[in-house]
Amino acid sequence: MNITTMKMQELKETLEIPWFHLEEFKEELILEISIELMKVYQQYPFLKGKIQALGSNEDILKLMQEKLPKEKISFALNYCMSVGFIKKENLLFIGLGIHPALNKQNIDFWNEEIRKKSEEGFFTKHCQNLRDIIWHEVGHILDYQISFWKNPNFLSLLKKVDGNYIELAVSKYALTDVHEFIAECFLEANKGCGNEFCDLVTNTLIQEYTLVLKKKGM
Ligand SMILES: [Zn+2]
Repeated sequence: MNITTMKMQELKETLEIPWFHLEEFKEELILEISIELMKVYQQYPFLKGKIQALGSNEDILKLMQEKLPKEKISFALNYCMSVGFIKKENLLFIGLGIHPALNKQNIDFWNEEIRKKSEEGFFTKHCQNLRDIIWHEVGHILDYQISFWKNPNFLSLLKKVDGNYIELAVSKYALTDVHEFIAECFLEANKGCGNEFCDLVTNTLIQEYTLVLKKKGM
């Protein structure tokens, strides 16, 4: 299977994302995102089918409002990608939004921007390019879908660290709020950082996520 020669429809089927609208984006950007999503699915096969939309941030927000207007809608905005979700029991609808600004520069530009932010300590050490950001967003998806930020096992882990530690061992961005902290730990652990604490948060997240799937018979 060669992802680089796939047509949009094939990509949509391969990635198993029902609402898939990347028409406005440059081919190289679509490829970057698709290739990395495939890696995510290789690492976590149970995530296939759990991302239900992929398109521009604005379109995903609109889509959510149209589909389920009475539900509580939240939207987590990020540096260049974002995760949109609707809360209904546990999460039922979740999309990965791509910021249209990404289209205005080439991939090398963004990769350089991200690498600089990583060097400054703003992003994690292992967040070196656009593809790495996908892992951060997937971390959000897992977190929101099972309300991991309220999970007692997570909260007891969180108690063990302070702001200084988080800034040094994870990133400045991880200090933004508990969601960014989880997403940054997830990225760092999946990039093989070897940080025990990021690994612990990530393993707990995966454990709890698979438990929820089991309970729901998924
Ligand atoms: Zn984030």
